[in-house]
Amino acid sequence: MVKLQTVRGTYDLYGSRKQKMKQVLAIGENVVENYGFEEIETPIFEFTEVFARNLGDTSDIVTKEMYSFEDKSGESLTLRPEGTAGIVRAFVSNGMQQNLPVKLYYHGPMFRYERPQKGRQRQFTQFGVELLGVDTPQADIEVIAMAYDFLQKLGLSHQVTVEINSLGDKESRDNYRQKLVDYLQNHIDELSEDSRVRLDKNPLRVLDSKEQCDKQVIENAPLYADSLNETSQKFFAQVLAGLDLLGIKYHVNNRLVRGLDYYNHTVFELVTDELGAQGTVLAGGRYNGLVEQMGGDNIAGIGWACGVERLSMLLDKEPDVKRPIAIIPIGEKAEKKSLEIAYQLRCAGLKIDQSYTGNLKKRMIKANKINAQSAIILGDDELAQGEIVVKNLDSGEQKKIALKRLIEEFK
Ligand code: ATP
Ligand code: MG
Repeated sequence: MVKLQTVRGTYDLYGSRKQKMKQVLAIGENVVENYGFEEIETPIFEFTEVFARNLGDTSDIVTKEMYSFEDKSGESLTLRPEGTAGIVRAFVSNGMQQNLPVKLYYHGPMFRYERPQKGRQRQFTQFGVELLGVDTPQADIEVIAMAYDFLQKLGLSHQVTVEINSLGDKESRDNYRQKLVDYLQNHIDELSEDSRVRLDKNPLRVLDSKEQCDKQVIENAPLYADSLNETSQKFFAQVLAGLDLLGIKYHVNNRLVRGLDYYNHTVFELVTDELGAQGTVLAGGRYNGLVEQMGGDNIAGIGWACGVERLSMLLDKEPDVKRPIAIIPIGEKAEKKSLEIAYQLRCAGLKIDQSYTGNLKKRMIKANKINAQSAIILGDDELAQGEIVVKNLDSGEQKKIALKRLIEEFK
């Protein structure tokens, strides 16, 4: 027997769940296109090293979450766990560096092997943006404003907080790393096993741990802000001043580090307290070294990605869908004619629901059930006189009109 259930952590998307996701994407695309971003679509799988080398080999994604497999030619491939690495790969391999800045957006399925929970799936949808080639704070301000604008248009801005921090440049990061290692060495007995490994390989990653014992140690760790050099402090101050200017409220969260290796300077998250541990709906940051690391020039980048399922779970209202017009034939001739009329009306751009079987009563019940705005009732007698009946299903009002005036009536 074929197993009929979907793989753990994956879902069939249909009905109102799908409608809400479509709405999130439609609003998102509209917003980012207003900022001059253009859509890009990269393959759903890439060579494993595109992710393994660039996300950081101690990141949760690379150590535990990737769907990697060998194809029939023995090539190691990975279903993309996130969008940025593939897009930067595309940016370099298509020579887009010649024409800066480049503003791209994308959406599509991502894959991570993690424990499924509300708002956490193994296949999920991200919508995200990348702005390449601008190393000034203007870019940071613009992409954060764009994220905020997007959530505002979804009607969610009052439920989310903008959390922001700066990781500074390389000098600041090295500076901080040393202080952090000294501190963590003194607390090594209290750390989880994973974090002890991280301490050796990539100590900053410890700050991103979700283990309770680590969290207690992290609470008193040295603050990143105290290690930022002057350049990094100035950069961050300019970003914050820009957000102030636009009236975007934020909270500077000194503990925010983000889980991937490629971030520097600004990192941010838009967080709600309505989805439990899955409260981060949108997250991003600056990644100035990534293009070079992938073999391109030294080009700055910044971007964000949001979880489309998480955002759509926050939408309480069903999206407005276009209400159909029901077409209801009574009698044999009418049945045939209704095919023709439905086709003409649909070609004219109207949404027509054709009920396939049943008597008048049953078909009227069905029309109300699908929330039709009105019903076109075709009887053999009326048709013989070139007329039909149109019933408004909200008011109950009905009238006879000439068949040839039908399209006009609904336009
Ligand atoms: P989390 O801390 O929740 O695991 P993350 O830091 O791994 O999130 P990112 O890699 O920054 O997440 O991805 C950006 C956004 O994508 C998240 O803020 C979230 O909305 C969404 N997302 C990430 N992982 C999942 C998942 N497994 N299922 C659903 N949405 C997800
Ligand atoms: Mg995660």
